[in-house]
Amino acid sequence: MGDFLSPGVAHWLIQASYFIAAILFISGLKKMSHPRTARGGVIWAGIGMVVATVITFAEPQMHNYLLMTTAIFVGGILAWWSGKRVAMTDMPQMIALYNGMGGGAAAAIAAVELLRVFTGAGLTHEAFAARELAVLGALIGTVAFSGSLIAFAKLQGWMRKVYRFPGQQALNGLIFLALLVLGFLLARSEFSAGTFYAFFALALLVGVLMTIPIGGADMPVVISLYNALTGLAVGFEGFVLQNPAMMIAGIVVGSAGTLLTQLMAHAMNRPLSNVLFSGFGTGDDGGGGVEVSGSMKAIDAADAAITMAYAEKVVIVPGYGMAVAQAQHKIWELTQLLIEKGVKVTFAIHPVAGRMPGHMNVLLAEAGVPYDLIYDLEDINSQFPTTDVALVIGANDVVNPAARKDTSSPIYGMPILDADKASNVFVIKRGQGTGFSGIENLLFFEENTRMCYGDAQDVAQKLIAGVKTI
Ligand code: NDP
Repeated sequence: MGDFLSPGVAHWLIQASYFIAAILFISGLKKMSHPRTARGGVIWAGIGMVVATVITFAEPQMHNYLLMTTAIFVGGILAWWSGKRVAMTDMPQMIALYNGMGGGAAAAIAAVELLRVFTGAGLTHEAFAARELAVLGALIGTVAFSGSLIAFAKLQGWMRKVYRFPGQQALNGLIFLALLVLGFLLARSEFSAGTFYAFFALALLVGVLMTIPIGGADMPVVISLYNALTGLAVGFEGFVLQNPAMMIAGIVVGSAGTLLTQLMAHAMNRPLSNVLFSGFGTGDDGGGGVEVSGSMKAIDAADAAITMAYAEKVVIVPGYGMAVAQAQHKIWELTQLLIEKGVKVTFAIHPVAGRMPGHMNVLLAEAGVPYDLIYDLEDINSQFPTTDVALVIGANDVVNPAARKDTSSPIYGMPILDADKASNVFVIKRGQGTGFSGIENLLFFEENTRMCYGDAQDVAQKLIAGVKTI
């Protein structure tokens, strides 16, 4: 740009573009906080990213345009292709994978900058502060990279085993201490290739060791935490490169990821330390042995349809099974039929229903369910005692009363949707399968519960047919 414009004007244009990109990132994120505006938010943030990427080409120190363009082209095509192909139910592992790439990219930038110290081309300007930031970003980004890849493998079902051994936390602590020493040496003393490689190898190991003992049910919180770490790493590297777009994007992702991590841990009523170190759902937490009495009682879809058609108030509780069966469109059709018959129908969404935050909201929005029929846990729970029918569709853990009643249960204390307090509970699921946490559900054995067995979409179709006959 300097060839066409004076350096002063070019500099001003670059900074103004970064400022616009920052506004687009922040407004995009704000818009993502409501389902009605979320799609626009993604587009705004995406435009911000395009502005930031394009203007970076105009930075005076840039060269190697062919390599950059090729990388963007190849990465863009891969992202487009995989984004189009991925099933909604596989979204968490996709996020884990992309997040890992972000952490790895931040770590790679740090590695290049630290190597430039060695060759005398980079951070030699008595810039210990910049070197320290580079080392911090390298540490956090590398841990997020390897940790996210393990999370991906777990969610994808490639790594089903949970690896725990005595003294694991002490070993992790020692490795982390060694990392801090190596990091200090990298930031403050003469460059040594041995220190450099040992630092990155240990950081990769920490990410792996931190993640392998964590059970699958806690992976969403872990991914959210790594997402926050990736943001932080990108932010640090933004300071190292003096690139405002990176700084702001990193800080925005870091703070949003931290808040999301806290919210998810809060929704499970567990401190983050418990998520990371307790071995929840792995068999080491003393859970899974919930005592149940009674038996599961089945009901025909036709009978369930009659009860719902004559009900005053029906609350629908969707869960992961609805996503698997892609039953949201049928459920909306059923809802409309019931509303036509004068039934008051609402939807109750648990914050961790499904396999990612907002999973159910996205599916219901896709089916056209109006937002004013959808309620969050804290707004709907008081409604269940006056509800005639709670229709649970492929939800399990999020309606398990063991969380309220059984102090020995690993999910004890987790807020749940109080579906069991409705006069009648109909549960649609295929068989006796447990939920993600692997524990038995007391709700299914309650006196007021009836099991409507089958694939959620098939059963929803039968319910529609049943309601139509009335
Ligand atoms: P669960 O995973 O607890 O239960 C899902 C139920 O759906 C199963 O019991 C299964 O029973 C049933 N099911 C599966 N496929 C079908 C189908 N085709 N038709 C009908 N039923 C089906 O789901 P919840 O939504 O209740 O809870 C979410 C769980 O996932 C929580 O433990 C949460 O911590 C965890 N999690 C949450 C994430 C998030 O961010 N939201 C991300 C990752 C995990 P059956 O096999 O008998 O049909």
